[in-house]
Amino acid sequence: MENIERSSQKGRKGALSEEVRANALRVRQTGACFCCHIRKVKCDEQRPCKNCVKVCTQVPELVCWKFADFSEILFPGMMRNHFQREETARFIEQNISSFTINGIETPCRITLSSSERFATKLVLMAKFFTTKDAASDINTHWYHFIGYQGIEMAKLKAAPVGLDIPDGAAGASQRSELRRKIETYAESLAMEPDYARQVTTAIRKTLVPFKILNIVRQYGIKSGASIVRRALTILGMHYVMTRQLLITQQSIAGLQHINTTTPNGPFMTSRLLNRQIKMVLDDIMQQEINTIFDDFTKRLKGKNRKQWAPCFAAFLVLCLLMEAIETAADTFAIAGCEIELRSGRPPNFMRKQALELNEEIENMPFKQFAIQFHNIFQTHQRESAAKTFNPLFGDGLEEFAKDDPAAWELVSSLRNLIDMEWSELDWLTCDPILPNIEAHPYPANVEEHYVGRLSAKFLLSFERSSYIFASA
Ligand SMILES: [Zn+2]
Ligand SMILES: [Zn+2]
Repeated sequence: MENIERSSQKGRKGALSEEVRANALRVRQTGACFCCHIRKVKCDEQRPCKNCVKVCTQVPELVCWKFADFSEILFPGMMRNHFQREETARFIEQNISSFTINGIETPCRITLSSSERFATKLVLMAKFFTTKDAASDINTHWYHFIGYQGIEMAKLKAAPVGLDIPDGAAGASQRSELRRKIETYAESLAMEPDYARQVTTAIRKTLVPFKILNIVRQYGIKSGASIVRRALTILGMHYVMTRQLLITQQSIAGLQHINTTTPNGPFMTSRLLNRQIKMVLDDIMQQEINTIFDDFTKRLKGKNRKQWAPCFAAFLVLCLLMEAIETAADTFAIAGCEIELRSGRPPNFMRKQALELNEEIENMPFKQFAIQFHNIFQTHQRESAAKTFNPLFGDGLEEFAKDDPAAWELVSSLRNLIDMEWSELDWLTCDPILPNIEAHPYPANVEEHYVGRLSAKFLLSFERSSYIFASA
């Protein structure tokens, strides 16, 4: 029970669970831990390292970590086994007899879109295929939507098109071309004027994430800070990952003379194409997360106040990303169970796994980065501390007024948001009254437990660190 409930319950004091510490132990790589890196002291091979053990006597919440530990938590195997190259190859092998129709190769130009409200489209050259069995899973896809009862699911027909890229050197140039196209697609989405509204469009509980994202996006444009732009792109990638890329109406009409499948709903997609695109996108996302972590490491090392705004803004976007990952993990587990139950098969995994993962996301990447951020910039007064720097709730805003107008605008807008939405932000940080542990809550919409929570906690932690650690 203890493991499933969120460990940040009010009133909880003292050290973190054994499990969180064990996880920090699990990932061992050479190089300094983040804490030693920032303090510019020599680290050792032990996890936790000797320095962190010492620091822990004063700051018991601190875990000895490296960004590599976070990548593992944010990209859990549970949700991406089907993105492995061999898995997709097997999926094709099991379901497709050939990339032809009646023995004739039928290439086509497909235009895909993540939302009608985005002008950016993804255009790919694909091929029609013939399936081994008409009843094959490859001919359908599950469509999730929020209906009157919560999450609803419908089975829609999928078009028999996909990418026919040969293995090995023969397909190398096609693969890099595909990767480049998908990268460009994701970068363009983050620049769309409707980005903030669209990325938060599924959220029913609160408008706070939309408002935060809108403010940060403005800052990203004005400041030109690459770390913020990258964070926005990664969040956009996650948005693309969590929904179907649909074939545009125009593209459906253009393919009508070849496509033997008629849509049985408002939309049409290709199950194979989605999987092939997301396999590449997942890989790009992991690479981008590692790049952004490297960037944080470089920017924060000097403890330079010029880096406060870009790092703060980028992490605020990552808070929204972590909330989205949590929602996706829980929804994925529940929907996976529901699909198996409807097919009369036992579920592949339990919701409990997703809940444990989400607890780890909050305890490790979220809390540990936030605590380091506050330490680096001295957000709050500590006993022997030098001058504090807290533009959001204390001193520092005047510094921006002189030489960083973009940062000044960012902080002023967020101060305004906090003033207007204080009670809502505070409400978003609260733990549920009833523990969120139900084994199969379908069709409940579980976003309730995650949206706005980490971003609100991070913002309010500038007022009081107990928003992150109850014992602080
Ligand atoms: Zn260390
Ligand atoms: Zn350490």
